[in-house]
Amino acid sequence: MSDHANETTYGFGTRAVHVGNEVDKDSGAIKRPITMANSYVLPYDPTDMNWSSAGGNLYTRNGGTNQKYLQERVASLEGGEDCVVLASGVAALSGLFFALLNKGDHVIFSSVTYIAVYRLLNELLNNKFGVETTIVDTTDPANVEAAIRPNTKLIHIETPGNPTLMISDIAAISDVAHRHGALLSVDNTFASPFNQRPIELGADFVVESLTKYINGHGDSMGGAIVGRTEHLDKIRAVSQVNLGGTISPFNAWLIMRGSVTLPLRMRQHNENAMAVARWLEKQPCVSFVAYPGLESHKGHEVAKKQMSPGFGGVLSFGLKADHDTHNRFVSHLKVITSAVSLGHDESLIVFLGENDERQYLYPEEFHNGFFRFSVGIEDAEDIIGDLKQALEKTGLDVLT
Ligand SMILES: *Cc1c(COP(=O)(O)O)cnc(C)c1O
Repeated sequence: MSDHANETTYGFGTRAVHVGNEVDKDSGAIKRPITMANSYVLPYDPTDMNWSSAGGNLYTRNGGTNQKYLQERVASLEGGEDCVVLASGVAALSGLFFALLNKGDHVIFSSVTYIAVYRLLNELLNNKFGVETTIVDTTDPANVEAAIRPNTKLIHIETPGNPTLMISDIAAISDVAHRHGALLSVDNTFASPFNQRPIELGADFVVESLTKYINGHGDSMGGAIVGRTEHLDKIRAVSQVNLGGTISPFNAWLIMRGSVTLPLRMRQHNENAMAVARWLEKQPCVSFVAYPGLESHKGHEVAKKQMSPGFGGVLSFGLKADHDTHNRFVSHLKVITSAVSLGHDESLIVFLGENDERQYLYPEEFHNGFFRFSVGIEDAEDIIGDLKQALEKTGLDVLT
């Protein structure tokens, strides 16, 4: 490992191991240390320093060593020029929106997105800050084109979308955005940069919840915005220095550590989720399975075009059963844990009931309650075995 291993000519796996890490010059340690300081020593004459500058060694809210190392790595994995890492995925989303948007600007966003995007754009930024917003079914780029206004500044999509796994065509929407002088941001959390790199497909920004696949071990939170330096400098100053959603050096270090095995974990997530999706699809008691890797998925052709080598580890499915039967099924699971979040090493399932206020935006099959299932990296036979025994104990129809 040397300073030269940061070059972009190296493969994804090599960069996941090396970018952002170097021999520590002080000690010779082959891993860079955690800097648990909130302040850095000032120069001889500090009076002409910019106290709001981002990135330099001044104060950890303005930037710190562990943030910097993680930014280098995430930028490299996403194929972007620059990156800012923040305390959570939502800090990254709000950092992007608050830094970029002004009163009177118009934003188009996917009808299926992470709930905080809906809250930020559909309740906070429009009602309190005068940003115009339009919710669009972005599975068809023609809908995006039709919603464009002269003041459209940003199109924000999430693909695959949480929790319906709907797919939007990144290259086609990027084309729409750029023809109309707008910018495109893509929430890439479900795919991870191992399976999908929106910047290579024309996106201006990628947002990642580092909490999910990039950390991968369910033990810290973080978020990232990746894009061009001309935008990121401003976003860094607003989101980090002035909004203050700073990630702790320890969490940045944990995510750095977790990200080393991202390619290995993603291969297993991809393989396991495909096996589980195929198994679920055959079960008489299962009402639907939404996984972009399945030929039956509406977005499969677009997913094949923009996701490679796999389709990620998250799927959704429904049961032909009443509300309480869904809960009973979950109570019989032994390997799979009932908890929110996703992209962890372990399999996590969450029952999303019929009361979601955004249900009107979801396809019909999602209206009777469904599971979002983050398939972990355990042995696929054990995950499927666990589903099978729990369905049987619940008294549901299962094929062997
Ligand atoms: C979890 C998630 C987020 C939010 O990330 P946090 O780290 O929980 O703040 C954003 N987008 C998607 C798609 C997510 O799944």
